[in-house]
Order: sequence, then structure tokens, then C-alpha cells
Amino acid sequence: MSDYRYKRVLLKLSGEALMGDAVSAIDPSVTEMLARQIKSIHEDGIEVGIVVGGGNIFRGLAGSAKGMDRAQADYMGMLATVMNALALQDAFEHEDCSCRVMSAIQMNEVCEPYIRRRAMHHLEKGDIVIFAAGSGNPYFTTDTAAALRACEIDADCLLKATKVDGVYDKDPVSHTDAVRFDTISYHEVLVRGLQVMDSTATALCQDNRMPIIVLNIEGEDNIKRALCGEPVGTVVVQ
Ligand code: UDP
Repeated sequence: MSDYRYKRVLLKLSGEALMGDAVSAIDPSVTEMLARQIKSIHEDGIEVGIVVGGGNIFRGLAGSAKGMDRAQADYMGMLATVMNALALQDAFEHEDCSCRVMSAIQMNEVCEPYIRRRAMHHLEKGDIVIFAAGSGNPYFTTDTAAALRACEIDADCLLKATKVDGVYDKDPVSHTDAVRFDTISYHEVLVRGLQVMDSTATALCQDNRMPIIVLNIEGEDNIKRALCGEPVGTVVVQ
């Protein structure tokens, strides 16, 4: 068994992480790659909760920018996250990994309702739990839902999977001199307006001293290495 520093983690996957280079919203080869990577830490005894986004399908803000009612559009976004959650569950089951989907919006025919104590019980007995439908409330994001669920299930850290290898002082794509932080405080993230997670999510983590590890999901074994304390990505702490 590797030398893990954390026992229970909440992984935030954006909807775009399921797309790969595919034209379609969900690429099964990508969900299977993600499932394999997550399975390897799960087999080492790590308890894994996942909050998945919906941006590969629909974002409420995009809908309201085109004239839709914001709350209505946000509910559509939340439903999009349920589709992603079901796709991920399917990939876990192909890997023979027991996985539950719990939705903040009741949809009993396709998944369980989110009940905190039941979620904790699933985690304790070794099931991966995917939290779908965000927080169940419009005007929030799945980043904030991830911070909320991480606190609720008493996770040891929140892993924010992205396409970059951490937090930079400026956009590393457009600035060659951008500097990556190994660690940074919540306060600095908020004051500098760095794009780690949205400010509501960052503030919730700050208030509850929930460490955030920002890492690149595309690197093989990055999740495992980060959980073992290797300098993969950026750690956001007090
Ligand atoms: N959403 C919401 N409340 C929540 C979580 C999500 O209304 O608690 C909606 C919101 O419209 C958001 C969409 O669901 O744009 C998809 O989530 P998000 O944009 O966070 O997905 P990601 O960018 O991580 O793929």
C-alpha cells in the first residue's frame, strides 16, 4: 500500500473532463480512463466521492446569456450533471467497481436521492459515490457543490481536476512567464482573483479548512501521487 496522506477524498471533475477530444459531449474512452485511474486509488483503500460538472452539455449562465430564465437554465445544467454521473457510473461498473449515484434532485428511476448519512455509509463500506445535480439549487456551480459535499462527508481534501498542472499567477496558456504555486492560501486566491474554483467554493473551503489540491487529471497516476504528498499541482490551504 502506498503512503497516502488522505483517507477520504472528494474529487471534482468538470463536465469537459469527460469530453476528451471527441466532438460528442461524453467520450466513453475518456470515462473509462478516468474510472481506471480512480479505481487504482480506491483499491488502495481510499474512500472516493465525486462531484461531476455539466459544462460539456449545458451551463445555466450560457442559457441566461441568451435570454433564458436563469433558474430554469440552471436546473437544465443540474440535469446535465446527472447524465455525466450515469456515464461515469457505467465506466466504473465496466471496471468492476461498485459505484452509487446520489442526486440532489430526486430521480428515483435512475439514481438514489442524496441523503448525507446514507452517502457516508456507502463510502464506509467501500462504494464510490458520485454526487449528481450539484447542490440542487440554482445560482450555484458544481465547484461549490464539491466544496459543500467535501465538508458534509468530512473529506480530508478536495481534489480539483483540471487540464493544467496547478495554480499559476497568470494564465499559463497566454503568458510564457507564468509562475506555478506549489502552495497558496485561500486568501491569496481570493484577493488575486485566481481561477482555482469560483469564489463561493473557495470561501466555503477556507471557512471549513478544507485543503484543495489542484492537479492535471491527464497525467497518469497524478491523483495517486498527489494523495501521497508528491508535489503534483498546487495545494490551497489556510
Ligand atoms: N448548477 C446549478 N447548481 C449547482 C450546480 C450546478 O445550478 O449546485 C448548474 C449551473 O447552471 C451550471 C451547470 O449546472 O452551469 C453545470 O455545472 P458547472 O458549470 O459547475 O459544470 P462544470 O463547469 O464543472 O462542467
